[in-house]
Amino acid sequence: MATEAKTIQTLNADTLELQKFGELAHKWWDKNSEFKPLHEINPLRLAYIESSVKLQGKRVLDVGCGGGILSESMFLKGADVTGIDLGEKALSVAKLHQLESGTKVNYQLISVEQMAIEQPSGFDVVTCMEMLEHVPDPASVVEACARLVRPGGSVFFSTLNRNPKAYLFAVLGAEYILHLLPKGTHDYAKFIKPSELSAWVRSSGLEVADLRGMSYHPMTQVYRLGDDVSVNYLMHTQRG
Ligand code: SAH
Repeated sequence: MATEAKTIQTLNADTLELQKFGELAHKWWDKNSEFKPLHEINPLRLAYIESSVKLQGKRVLDVGCGGGILSESMFLKGADVTGIDLGEKALSVAKLHQLESGTKVNYQLISVEQMAIEQPSGFDVVTCMEMLEHVPDPASVVEACARLVRPGGSVFFSTLNRNPKAYLFAVLGAEYILHLLPKGTHDYAKFIKPSELSAWVRSSGLEVADLRGMSYHPMTQVYRLGDDVSVNYLMHTQRG
């Protein structure tokens, strides 16, 4: 018991965050649930990835894969996908969903840091979407992703910017006004400025290849990719 507690403490994970996602896990594939925004942005981020990397035949690691929305879609583009997460329930849902979808993503309960020790340079592409803002030490996740990708490979991140507009849209707007997300989904203090993410990226031996905004229009209820990185953004990085 004592050993188990110690292991949990040394993991770069926030137990309350994992619990929060665990409680909602059964809804992961319900497109009208709290996970609606992830379903809606998925075609955009998939298109973003495919605009710089052809996924067909690539070995891909999806870090913080949750119920597998992005993992499955990358498998369907012909990639050999491994999905990792520390949420047991989310992974069970991801595995169960494969019975329905017929996809063959390899899901594993393992931390990204441990995976980096076990499979350094093991992947052509690493994706880490909407996860960095939920971990205690995001720089450590970035560094592990950099170790996991092969030289010349790509790592894609997405997260939330930190500024008053991001607070207004991602916390007040999404959680309190439009009820797109449950209250408490996001902790503003953990939002990450593109400059901060870029610094972690560079100190991990990756280079920033592109930065793209993803914005939500409350009236049309449509997300789109563009130059506005003030709230949600995606970053394409490459290992030299
Ligand atoms: N990347 C997925 C899910 C995003 S939700 C998508 O965009 O569709 C955030 C996910 O991060 C949840 O599945 C949660 O369990 C996971 N997560 C939170 N902290 C984590 C950690 N320390 N290590 C791995 N996964 C973590």
